[in-house]
Amino acid sequence: MTPDLRPGASAEPSAADRRWLMHTYAEPPVTFVRGEGTMLVDERGRRYLDFLSGLAVTSLGHAHPAVAAAVAEQAATLVHVSNLFGNVLAPEVARTLDRLVGGGTEQAGGQVFFANSGAEANECALKLARRWAGAGGAAPRPGVVCAEDAFHGRTLATLAATGQEEKRRPFAPMPEGFVHVPYDDLDALERAVDPSRIGAVLVEPIQGEAGVVVPSSDYLARLRQLCTERGVLLVLDEVQTGLGRTGAWFAFQHLGIVPDVVTVAKALGNGVPVGACWARAEVAAAFSPGDHGSTFGGQPLAMAAARATLAVLEAEDAPRRAERAGARLAAGLAWVDGVDHVRGRGLLLGAVLAAPVAPAVTRAALDAGLVVNAPRPDVLRLAPSLLVSDEEIDQAVGVLADVLPAVLEGGPTP
Ligand code: PLP
Repeated sequence: MTPDLRPGASAEPSAADRRWLMHTYAEPPVTFVRGEGTMLVDERGRRYLDFLSGLAVTSLGHAHPAVAAAVAEQAATLVHVSNLFGNVLAPEVARTLDRLVGGGTEQAGGQVFFANSGAEANECALKLARRWAGAGGAAPRPGVVCAEDAFHGRTLATLAATGQEEKRRPFAPMPEGFVHVPYDDLDALERAVDPSRIGAVLVEPIQGEAGVVVPSSDYLARLRQLCTERGVLLVLDEVQTGLGRTGAWFAFQHLGIVPDVVTVAKALGNGVPVGACWARAEVAAAFSPGDHGSTFGGQPLAMAAARATLAVLEAEDAPRRAERAGARLAAGLAWVDGVDHVRGRGLLLGAVLAAPVAPAVTRAALDAGLVVNAPRPDVLRLAPSLLVSDEEIDQAVGVLADVLPAVLEGGPTP
């Protein structure tokens, strides 16, 4: 329905009146006004336990004092100058990210492009892959093999990479060159990776939006081997899994492999929009000045947030905390009546339900003061702050243990 925006068309609008927002999102059930750690507060002053973290973003919890102070100080110093000029923060954050890609103690030997979101980080990776695959006068190999059910973003190229036909269809025609194969299917990959046409394979090490789907333990290692043998780039989308959430700085580190390109975003600014694309130096060298850019990317304000976020993640040993807390949360969830099994790693968990009632459970949990979401009709996603306490974990499990049986008794989600 077209909203009636004429003056006086309705009563005085409230602050949260959404008539002037495009209708790209469902009507929100709650409006939050404040947060602290794992707690959120709505406009009526009601408190909630946040086990979603703004979709795996606020890994240090809300309003972390170190990030808040860094952002406030930078806001009062220098917010933006554009990439026509240098700033002292972007090189430092790039160096730290490169070290974390290297496992935390040694530089990985790559270079970073800063963007403003996960989709933009992936756009950079896709453009870099095309530039690399056509470099040095070689015959261009613009093709990219991606996985079914993958999610890589909403820009046209990242939507083309996204393995969800229903999201792509309304926006046809898509940019060319993207091929989709079933996730976790190496034979299909072997058939699809034709090195005369394909320059890169792009996958998530764990598919987050698809419902926290973890591939077989040898999938990424064999994929790495295939890409090396065929001279194709392995690009890992760690936008959701990166920066400690799965119990390692990056999910690929669980498997001891090294990708050619890694994208990261969500947790990087603890909520301040910032994304990054890391690439091995030889791959990054395919870009020349003028090939890619962003007005805001790498600006001092976002970099101050990223520097502070990374410093706290390191000081808190976030991967170890995620691993420990994730084990407690997974064990608690596994005992909840109505949970069939739990999948995921660290603090990126999917509770697979015995029936497709996840949206109703999400709503009931919210009413009971717990924020989670339902990436699939039968999957609840839990991604709390990496600093979540044991008490908060037990409380969240308690809420689900209360609401889940009640929802299941009420039948499937309408
Ligand atoms: N890649 C993955 C794996 C994601 O989970 C997301 C967002 O959920 C994106 C890319 C897109 O990130 P953004 O929404 O910041 O553009």
